[in-house]
Amino acid sequence: MEDLFKRLVSHAKEYGFIYPSSEIYDGLNGVYDYGPLGAALKNNIKTYWWKAMVQMHENIVGLDSAIFMHPKIWKASGHVDAFNDPLVDNKDSKKRYRADVLIEGEIDKMLAKADKEVDKAAKRFGETFNAQFFRETNPRVLEYTQRAATTEKRLAEAMKAGDMADLGAMLAELEIADPDTGSRNWTDVRQFNLMFSTQMSNIAGDDGKLYLRPETAQGIFVNFLNVQKTTRQKLPFGIAQIGKAFRNEIVARQFIFRMREFEQMEMQFFIRPGTEMEWYTYWKEKRMAWHRAVTPAEKLRFKDHDNLAHYANAAVDIQFEFPFGFKELEGIHSRTDFDLSSHQELSGKKLQYFDPELSENYVPYVVETSVGCDRMFLSVMSNALIEEQVPGSDEEGNTREVLKLHPALAPVKCAILPLKANNDEIVAKAKAIYNKLRFHFECQYDDTASIGKLYRRQDAVGTPYCITVDFDTLENDTVTLRERDSMQQQRVSINELAALIGNNVDMAHLLAKIY
Ligand code: ATP
Repeated sequence: MEDLFKRLVSHAKEYGFIYPSSEIYDGLNGVYDYGPLGAALKNNIKTYWWKAMVQMHENIVGLDSAIFMHPKIWKASGHVDAFNDPLVDNKDSKKRYRADVLIEGEIDKMLAKADKEVDKAAKRFGETFNAQFFRETNPRVLEYTQRAATTEKRLAEAMKAGDMADLGAMLAELEIADPDTGSRNWTDVRQFNLMFSTQMSNIAGDDGKLYLRPETAQGIFVNFLNVQKTTRQKLPFGIAQIGKAFRNEIVARQFIFRMREFEQMEMQFFIRPGTEMEWYTYWKEKRMAWHRAVTPAEKLRFKDHDNLAHYANAAVDIQFEFPFGFKELEGIHSRTDFDLSSHQELSGKKLQYFDPELSENYVPYVVETSVGCDRMFLSVMSNALIEEQVPGSDEEGNTREVLKLHPALAPVKCAILPLKANNDEIVAKAKAIYNKLRFHFECQYDDTASIGKLYRRQDAVGTPYCITVDFDTLENDTVTLRERDSMQQQRVSINELAALIGNNVDMAHLLAKIY
């Protein structure tokens, strides 16, 4: 898996998907730029989300609110006081860590030890082995799993109470060392606020202090009444938004998994109080179906939150098996009326809905779905990048690198390749096909290498179809159409290409799997 991760990072760079930010100045930690193909893939992911949310629901509308907002918004939302991570420094290595992440790592180690015992026993006992019974009765396994459970509970309680001293005590008791150097010489654990701030030009001092939004959700909450009134939506209804968010993460590692500037795709669904569990279940299922349409089911799982955020009465993550393990990809939260009520209180403006069925005013409850666009990008890429034996070939070592992206997400849908780059007639014909097809979908014309090399390059960037223009094309207006995964080729008339490829790369196929 580690090997896959390394390959992925270099593949993303080599083919123009992702570059380190400010690379000529040695980069900026936790910040990345999307190259030409990366920008296209990211746009397709956003379109897939937008269509699934806004286009497919009569009662969900879009919004594009500003990154800068009134600073009081972050006071009301709780971010000024509570959007903190527990920071700890190692005095010897001078490295910074999140104390909770170090402790979680220790819990993972305990669980891994238990799994190892089970694997060993499975090998020893063979077919008669009952793994569940062994887990429930073997003293060693029980000791590891119980220790993991108690540690997890204590961590959740300390995080909820903001008890930094106890986190420090846990680091000491569990003998947790700096993963890089092995040193256990830690500072005290302290709270670190994750919001970036800047200064507005026309107001001096603290009043002019602005925050770069750490989530897009608050732009939705403060526009709730504007949107509801101007769109005449009735509850339940949702507001969807895609946009940049900024977090001063203590440790930004693992490529685009944890960045300091990233993009979120968030939807707040406004509902009648008391119906939140019903909608929470609905959105859990719908969001999982959205992921499963492009990702194998075994790579996805739900993980309930042990440690509920200050605003939530239920919360679950959809986790994906990244090359470094199962980690959060999306969060689904039942946020109660926390945000709207806080804004109502601090702004002094009513944020209520008149329910015509109940003849009553109330502050709506909210169920939120929030997925990171960059994490989705990483999950899509890590699923798709495959090194395989060339289909149909027995020759040892005849492998290819192929990016098996879903055709609807692929940055380029079709490459048009002339068989002979030095034949004017073939080149002219290929360019004419390119000029025709690019009205329908993203195409690329390429004549810079031999056909075999051009195919490999398109495989590596995930292009689902290649069209080869040859001498027969000049005679009968047919081309060879090659499909990326099977590498099968068929002869197709030029007139059929737009409809045939267009149909296969259509996002409607993905949406049909969800709705
Ligand atoms: P984590 O526990 O991994 O820090 P979180 O629980 O703080 O994530 P949320 O506040 O629920 O994350 O944000 C919603 C989504 O935004 C996450 O599921 C994730 O996909 C994305 N996200 C959050 N922080 C980052 C980040 N630093 N870089 C990239 N994506 C992020």
